[in-house]
Formats: sequence, structure tokens, C-alpha cells
Amino acid sequence: MSALLLNPGPVTLSERVRQALLQPDLCHREAEFASLQARIRDDLLGVYCLPAGIWSAVLLTGSGTAAVEALLTSLLPRTGTVLVIENGVYGERMTRIAALHGIGHVRVTHPWGGALDLARIEQALEATPGITHVAVVHHETTTGRLNDLARLGALCRAGGLRLLVDAVSSFGGELIDFAGWGVSACAATANKCLHGVPGTAFVIAERAVLDACCEPARSLYLDLGAYARAQDGGSTPFTQSVHAFYALAAALAELAQEGGWQARRRRYAELQQIVRDGLGALGVTPLHAAAESSVVLSAYALPPAIDYRLLHDHLKERGFVIYAGQGDLAARIFRVSTMGALTDGDMHRFVDAVSALFKPG
Ligand SMILES: *Cc1c(COP(=O)(O)O)cnc(C)c1O
Repeated sequence: MSALLLNPGPVTLSERVRQALLQPDLCHREAEFASLQARIRDDLLGVYCLPAGIWSAVLLTGSGTAAVEALLTSLLPRTGTVLVIENGVYGERMTRIAALHGIGHVRVTHPWGGALDLARIEQALEATPGITHVAVVHHETTTGRLNDLARLGALCRAGGLRLLVDAVSSFGGELIDFAGWGVSACAATANKCLHGVPGTAFVIAERAVLDACCEPARSLYLDLGAYARAQDGGSTPFTQSVHAFYALAAALAELAQEGGWQARRRRYAELQQIVRDGLGALGVTPLHAAAESSVVLSAYALPPAIDYRLLHDHLKERGFVIYAGQGDLAARIFRVSTMGALTDGDMHRFVDAVSALFKPG
């Protein structure tokens, strides 16, 4: 039996999504593909009830980072400057993307896992003339912190700035208040909270924002404007990950039937509570209190006597794949995700497996 994936994507698939991969071979220039693509684009907007006249979902073949890179390189005009907010690996990655492409940017850094410091962000906005966009990670998967975008959004709105969001590990599993927070565009992926397979990522943006994509494009392959135009015409600029599309369509149907993102969020919260309670009883503490954490993933402090590799291998032998901390956190934490086709029983067995190592005998 293969192990259950408790890493933050790719996730353990439901049988329905796995079976969807076995549908007929399909050419991406045929009408059947066009209707599959159109259905997925509609259903993605449907997850957060975004009206199709105002919003557009653009499908890409690549991992979540492709969508984030497409978001920043396509939507930042050459005359624009983006303020990038960093409090973990993925915020820092957005800065690297901006730097690589020569996009004007300034950073507001925080310690990994730290809460957004709105006062410093406001100061940076005032101190730097010409900022047009703010880029932020919604769920910073580095530590499990869910960044507060309501207050940040209000700040952006007051300054007339466009808010660009890396929602790769929150889309489908957490509240994203597009209108209330004033989100201009977000990037996400099929294989995290949506429970699809790796290979498909997407950007959801206001149509007006897509119409104003950077010209000439900074990238041939990641030009959102070209994808949006082609997809609105029932086409695609390049070969898409057809089978991953099949899986995403099935995953979106499953999400809708289960009660949408709200039901998924409740489900994740239940699964997370089992792990938090179970590990808490072993003296293992989460990095973030529940109120600051996503329900998608929690980071836990490694007990001093336990090496990550030992814990990982012990759990893998018992059918669970967990995730290491990144950078300086590698020696200090381990991470457990609640995404994918998981049951209460799976989480109880997981806690038992951890317990067997931490409390032998
Ligand atoms: C997973 C993730 C990404 C993208 O990672 P890929 O390996 O490219 O899929 C980007 N941002 C966040 C917050 C993530 O969790």
C-alpha cells in the first residue's frame, strides 16, 4: 500500500479523481478539450462565486510556482513597482522572481512565521514613491501562518494599489474574500486544497487586469495575456496537461458536491484538531495558535531528542509521509498537512504512529 501524503501537496487522491486520469486520450486542439477547459475555468470561478463577466480563470501547465511567476511577470507593467511582503519561503520566492525579471520591487521582511506588521508596511508604502502593486502570500506554507489580508487589503485600497496574492496553498480550503479584501489577482494550483494532480496551475484575475498585461511580454511561456486570449477563444497557446485537466475537473465536481470551500475548511479543521490534540498529549506544541494558523497545515516543534529524519522514516514505514521544515527551521520543526482524501481514522492512526516513537512501550 502506498503511504498517505501529509505533505503540503501533492495530496492523497480520492478514487474518483484517480479514475478520472484514465479517460480517453485527447488532443488539445479538439472540441472536447475546449469544453473541458471551459468547464474547469467556470468551476474555478465558482469556488468563490466570482462572476464570469468580471473575473477570469487562466489555466497553465506547470506547478504552483509557474502560476506565481506568470502572475508577477504578466501583471506588473514595466513602469510599475511591487512591494513584496515576506514572512516565509514563498514570499521570498516572489522577491526572487521580481529580481530575476528586472521588475521594480521593494521588500518588507519579517521573521519566518511572524505576523504581518501593518505599521511597517504602511511606512514602506509612504517611503517609496511609485509603488503600484503589493504582492503577498495568503497561507505561508513555511510555517502554516494564515496572513491577515483583510487589513492589508484595506491599506492597498486606500493607496489605490493592486493586491496580488499567492493563494497556492489556500485556494479551495480557506476563505478568500476577493471583493472585501480587494484582490486583483491570485495564483493557485490543482494539487493542493483542490485535491487534483500536479501539472495544472492557474491564475484568477479581474478581466480588466488581464486586459492590461505587460506588453511586450516578459516571458513567452508564462504570458497570461496570451493564455487568456486563447482560452477565451476556446483554444490554448501550448499543449496543456490534458490528464491533469481531467483530474482537476473531477476534483472540482467533488469539491462542489461536498459543500464547497466552506465544507472543506470545516473538514480540514476537524482533521487538524485530531492531530493537534493527539500531539499535544505527547507534549508536542504547534508553532502557531489555531487562530493564526491555516487549517491546511500546521508546523510542530520537534522534541529535542528527536531527529527529523528518524521521525520521517519511522512514520513512512507506518504509511505516512510528513514534511520537513525549510532553511533554519529544518532542524526545529516538522509539518503535517490535512489536504487530500483523509479520514478521522487516518489521523488517529497517525497520532498513534507518532506516539509509538515518542513514548515507546
Ligand atoms: C506549494 C506552494 C507554492 C508552489 O510550489 P510548487 O512546488 O511550484 O507547486 C507556492 N506558494 C505557496 C504558498 C505554496 O504552498
